[in-house]
Amino acid sequence: MVIQSSAPSCEANRSRDVGGIVIGIESTAHTFSIGWVDGLGVPGKSVSAFVRPVEGGIHPREAADHHAEHAGRILRELLDNEVDIADVKAISYSQGPGLGPCLRIGASVARSLATQLDVPLVGVNHCVAHIEVGRERCDCDDPVLLYASGGNTQVIARLDGRYRVLGETLDIGIGNMLDKFAREQGIAFPGGPKIESLALEWLSENPNPSLEGLELPYAVQGMDLAFSGILNAALNLVEKGAPLPAVCWSLQEHAFAACVEVAERAMAHAGKSELLLGGGVACNERLRNMCDVMSLSRGATSHVPEKFLCIDNGSMIATLGRLQLLWGTPTKLDESGVRQDLRTDETPILWN
Ligand code: AMP
Ligand code: MG
Repeated sequence: MVIQSSAPSCEANRSRDVGGIVIGIESTAHTFSIGWVDGLGVPGKSVSAFVRPVEGGIHPREAADHHAEHAGRILRELLDNEVDIADVKAISYSQGPGLGPCLRIGASVARSLATQLDVPLVGVNHCVAHIEVGRERCDCDDPVLLYASGGNTQVIARLDGRYRVLGETLDIGIGNMLDKFAREQGIAFPGGPKIESLALEWLSENPNPSLEGLELPYAVQGMDLAFSGILNAALNLVEKGAPLPAVCWSLQEHAFAACVEVAERAMAHAGKSELLLGGGVACNERLRNMCDVMSLSRGATSHVPEKFLCIDNGSMIATLGRLQLLWGTPTKLDESGVRQDLRTDETPILWN
């Protein structure tokens, strides 16, 4: 990639028109989604399909089959209702990280579209897209990102021209932990929203709840997190007869407090005064509230984009695709292969 000098701020990027629509294709895991942004980066609606396993977790091959099955319909729906194909300026897609078979479906759709329309192809880093869509929508300049999704839980900050992972889960993502707990209780995927509503039910019946008898292990290890211990302990509580809504409440309190503690330490360490939330778990009102309280207490601000932009979606991929189109060079076909293990700090931040 060619790095241009004196890159502008978020606001300045928004005043530069790429002269057409950028399409974004997301297929890192359970979501196949195609979305778009206009020339100035304003996101449009994504059209999405979600793998919803009846039982067990997500199987990469089956998820890829699901994506392949739905890709044509989703693209047609987008072109019928959202986007005029003549206005498409570039095709971006999640190049990684993610599940290999799923990533390959999105990359194949992107390559064939770009070739057919004769427009540039732009491979993007999924984790960085979560940051950039939040920065663009919330007008954050230089935040610490708490990225809490199904497969990932990371605390990220910009240092020396890259987004650096300052802390992350050492085992499973927080969303996967919530989904697994829910699945054991017979709750369908995604479990996070149902756990949130059960926790609220407990709170409405117990306005001053106590953690007595509901304690769970606290999952902070330095700057890192871990969630399998808390998952097993929560399952044990239910098995021993604790009410499910009470355990859901306790699970949220412990797991979210651990994330917020690491985010606060990262803000202090990196000297940042903005917190940005991203990933599907950022839809949770209790997590949002904890972030508000922590940020306020240290004179910082807390931000979160609209819920449809927190979960995996094509428009966030298009947001980053547009920035890379402005500031970098397109992805050549022979470099467009997927990168299952692409790290957040491998992507140079050219646009800021
Ligand atoms: P993502 O991987 O970013 O697409 O996000 C999907 C994850 O977000 C799943 O694990 C969901 O259970 C979780 N999730 C979605 N909404 C909520 C919510 N309101 N509370 C907690 N987790 C949620
Ligand atoms: Mg994600």
